[in-house]
Amino acid sequence: MAKGKRDGLLIAGGGLAGCLAAIAVARARPEIPLLLVEEGESFGGSHIWPFYDEDVAAEDRWLVEPMIAKAWQGYYVAFPGQSRKFRAGYNSVRSADLDAAVRATLRPDQYRLGTKVVAVRDNELVLLGGEKIKADGALDARGAANLSMLELGWRKFVGREFIFAQPHKVDRPVLMDATVEQLDGFRFFQCLPFNETRMLIEDCYYSDTSDLPADAAERLDAYIRLRGWKKRRMQREESGALPIALGGDFGAFWRVGGARVAKLGLRGGFFHPTTGYTLPDAVRTAVMLTQQRDLTGAALHDLFEQEAAALWRKREAYRAFNAALFHAPAQDRRGIFESFYALDPALISRFHSGSLGMLDRMKLTKLGR
Ligand SMILES: Cc1cc2nc3c(=O)[nH]c(=O)nc-3n(C[C@H](O)[C@H](O)[C@H](O)COP(=O)(O)OP(=O)(O)OC[C@H]3O[C@@H](n4cnc5c(N)ncnc54)[C@H](O)[C@@H]3O)c2cc1C
Repeated sequence: MAKGKRDGLLIAGGGLAGCLAAIAVARARPEIPLLLVEEGESFGGSHIWPFYDEDVAAEDRWLVEPMIAKAWQGYYVAFPGQSRKFRAGYNSVRSADLDAAVRATLRPDQYRLGTKVVAVRDNELVLLGGEKIKADGALDARGAANLSMLELGWRKFVGREFIFAQPHKVDRPVLMDATVEQLDGFRFFQCLPFNETRMLIEDCYYSDTSDLPADAAERLDAYIRLRGWKKRRMQREESGALPIALGGDFGAFWRVGGARVAKLGLRGGFFHPTTGYTLPDAVRTAVMLTQQRDLTGAALHDLFEQEAAALWRKREAYRAFNAALFHAPAQDRRGIFESFYALDPALISRFHSGSLGMLDRMKLTKLGR
């Protein structure tokens, strides 16, 4: 082996997709040499990644099961004209548990923290300072970049996790409380109760822009007052803007940069077009990686480019729904989601898991008209 050359895999970016890929390979194919490189001092940043039970195939569940911080057996949505309770498993994974899983699964020589990757080539990482590491193949999982080739709306949010002095009495997630004043597109609150007194509350928007509201704290406080929750202590805060796909040139998005480098996670366009959630795709691509025999960069590029392109084609109905939502006058957007949540729960479940049938797609198309 040449100096600086390793066999096996290099993964740039220890966020959700990179970590799941590394854990999956380390567990299912421990003979494959592996190096995961992350610029932060821990893996996964500071997020909570939710997913529905049906989003992750039963045979792939082993990968996320140990990281589930909280699982619920249903959720609520509330709109001016209807409130509805759904029976469906809903789970959340926290960054801290992802970080712990990486450290428990990978040997210390299989990862580097605090290390910035300045270039990813098909079989090489170039680190800040000039060090080059070669292997059979490299994967770029450094998060969102070059989304400009896609036509996007945004699902943006500001969330705070609180501990209340008294029980908040929310027994399961409220995924959309859209009874609130509508601002900046379609607006709703989301509440995830982790225990009787601990709850994450997010002010969310399907908006044309990714800018966060300047008065986010006041808006959260107003909602908490409205719901009558008192005496709270804030544990953590997060905000972000998740891309929502309306259209665009997906082929050009994958060709950005010119090099034939394999991409995972948001960087490879692996996200649910309507929710922006990425965990289900990240699990599936991680498991695909474990089944891949040819680990050269070119083979990995082709594998994930084809998968991403196939998903993009399969998800056309979602983009049509999103386009109808974002192109509708602001005052009509909440009504489109309200009609969606009046549909058959089985269809809603198929919507989340990406397994819509032809009839489902026709019903979805009608909602936007
Ligand atoms: C604040 C915030 C909150 C979010 N909340 C949710 C949520 O609730 N649910 C949800 O599904 N999605 C959420 N998202 C979207 C989230 O980005 C994706 O779901 C998911 O984290 C994407 O996974 P990923 O692996 O593609 O990217 P990331 O998880 O962003 O991982 C990319 C990793 O690469 C590292 N990196 C970047 N550049 C370099 C470099 N040059 N060298 C080395 N390492 C590098 C980053 O530090 C990071 O750890 C949120 C996003 C943000 C910004």
